[in-house]
Amino acid sequence: MEVITVPILPMKILQSYIIVGHKTIIVDTGVPDSQNKIISCLKKNNVQERDVSMILLTHSHIDHSGSVAALKKLFNVPVAIHKSEAAVIETGEMLPLSPKNKLSEIFKKSPPMQAKLEKCFVDIKLDGSENLEEFGIEAKLIHTPGHTDGSISIVLSNNEIIAGDVLSGGILLGGILKNNVGTWPTFHNDTKTCIESINKIIQLNPSKVYVGHGGTFTVNNLQKFVNKF
Ligand SMILES: [Zn+2]
Ligand SMILES: [Zn+2]
Repeated sequence: MEVITVPILPMKILQSYIIVGHKTIIVDTGVPDSQNKIISCLKKNNVQERDVSMILLTHSHIDHSGSVAALKKLFNVPVAIHKSEAAVIETGEMLPLSPKNKLSEIFKKSPPMQAKLEKCFVDIKLDGSENLEEFGIEAKLIHTPGHTDGSISIVLSNNEIIAGDVLSGGILLGGILKNNVGTWPTFHNDTKTCIESINKIIQLNPSKVYVGHGGTFTVNNLQKFVNKF
């Protein structure tokens, strides 16, 4: 099994992932109009498009769900997200965003965050305890709320975890520098629940933790981050 990082924005500011096992799962879809970046990345890594079995969203924010409708049309595979955020994808009505600082407030008003989400039917409404084996990937899901109520993480059988925006790394909007030093994502409010979710991840003792902005993290980096609170 292999996790391929798809750079959506440069310098690790934003990335999606492709999990390649017996089949292939696309995890997160970037901002609107990112589908070609994901397709080029499949090609570059010699992953067959016909092997894609699912599009899985770690949560509904537009920097992760922005190209889900376009990719579903191209691949004609099921789309999955936690049941509490499926309505966002199906109606295009985004969750309220809580900027963590002045820069986040400016970013909230910027074109990518103001872009409209193209609606898309959600085939699989997850509760966050599913196994992905029937989609050709040896992995299970865990519910890791806090960043959003429906945030999920993917625990792979190779002991790596893809954790969405449960935390971020880097500076400014994420990425750039200090990528493996933990910070809160640019939209953040519920510190207590986020810490509980990060602790859940630490307890699984993963070898590597991938996130949407910056990263990757070791358990040691995660522990240093939660120790601050
Ligand atoms: Zn997010
Ligand atoms: Zn994000």
